[in-house]
Amino acid sequence: MEGSQDIAGKKSVKVNCSFCSREIECPADMLQTSKKHMCYECFRNAGELAKEEGFEDVHVDIPMDKMEELIPEQLTNSMVEEVFPDIWKERKEEFKAMSKRDLAEEMFGAGAYTAIRNMLSTMKKVEKDGSH
Ligand SMILES: [Zn+2]
Repeated sequence: MEGSQDIAGKKSVKVNCSFCSREIECPADMLQTSKKHMCYECFRNAGELAKEEGFEDVHVDIPMDKMEELIPEQLTNSMVEEVFPDIWKERKEEFKAMSKRDLAEEMFGAGAYTAIRNMLSTMKKVEKDGSH
């Protein structure tokens, strides 16, 4: 944990990826909460393994430019997995009475609404974390 430096007023500490030993950076305030560190390459390769282990204690070093492609992907996945079952359960009877076109339109609207809401809360989170 040597060689700490300031990035945009935030302390960042050089750490080693717990999986491949590559040198990555970790925000100093994340050191306390992270038990493991993972570089972006390992994160991309982890796949199912990462899901099983759970990511709560793992700090993943994701480059800012990769965030842009990752966030929509993750939002979509979590939206489908977490939000859709609720919408379906709540409104199943209503959906059954709809034509396919109306149903598609309704679901597209619900999806867009959830996406925008999630995006706004993610943006707030990113702002609070102060990364860039
Ligand atoms: Zn790695």
